[in-house]
Amino acid sequence: MKPRPSFPARLDTSNDQAKPKALLGATRVVTPQTSMRGAAPTPLASPTGVGLDSSAVRKRMVQKLAEQGVQDNVVLDAMGRIERHRFVDSALVNQAYEDTSLPIGLGQTISKPNVVARMIALLREAPGLQAAPMGRVLEIGTGCGYQAAVLSLVAREVYSMERLRGLHDKAKENLRPMRLPNLHLMFGDGMLGYPKGAPYSAIIAAAGGEAVPQAWIDQLAMGGRIVAPMQTTAGQQALVVIDKTPQGLQQSLLEAVHFVPLKSGIA
Ligand code: SAH
Repeated sequence: MKPRPSFPARLDTSNDQAKPKALLGATRVVTPQTSMRGAAPTPLASPTGVGLDSSAVRKRMVQKLAEQGVQDNVVLDAMGRIERHRFVDSALVNQAYEDTSLPIGLGQTISKPNVVARMIALLREAPGLQAAPMGRVLEIGTGCGYQAAVLSLVAREVYSMERLRGLHDKAKENLRPMRLPNLHLMFGDGMLGYPKGAPYSAIIAAAGGEAVPQAWIDQLAMGGRIVAPMQTTAGQQALVVIDKTPQGLQQSLLEAVHFVPLKSGIA
């Protein structure tokens, strides 16, 4: 067996990732007009010579995802490009490429890589979406912004909503250096969707409620797909897939999952 690459050998935070914590208190609602725009389009340029090489561990994570059944190369490639360690607290960086959820503050968690990859792959499998790359995608529950970053590599435009101001601001800070011009972060109640960006090819939720809100169905384009965790009658959570077809809505219930609750209102 090959020795497992360890990470991080040394974490140098002297590059653009040094996080100005004081900014966390700053609040500004980012609209699609202002978000992430104005920055030079140099997406995902990796800093070189900063003593940080996470590519080996990330490659291993991607291999593991493939072994676990993620077959979509576009998703695997995106998972290999987004540096997950940049989205977790410095005390947790050595766990950033484990297949585990991790705390991101305010009682919320970053989803397991396997679940992120699985849900995005499910979106891409929608019968109505297969002919073209995904158009506009709405994500409910930005959290630390990790999944939003992965989505931005596989969709034309991504609108991501977060109801907790502290996490919305944290995601902005995490994502700013990555310069993803097609990713728009919104502060607001995602249970209402985001009508201004509608209709969406795909809607993905990172928080689970008792039902899929009608607003999401209304804002979904014909041929589009929703993938979300939802409470089942047994009081557990499972992934639900809803397709909007000319024949009506088609819903399927998939495997059990464990997401934080979908809540209404902002805080
Ligand atoms: N995709 C995230 C996962 C974050 S956990 C990541 O990659 O880190 C789910 C997030 O959903 C939490 O931050 C929670 O605050 C948020 N959330 C719950 N209900 C919401 C709602 N109605 N609107 C927007 N965000 C919501």
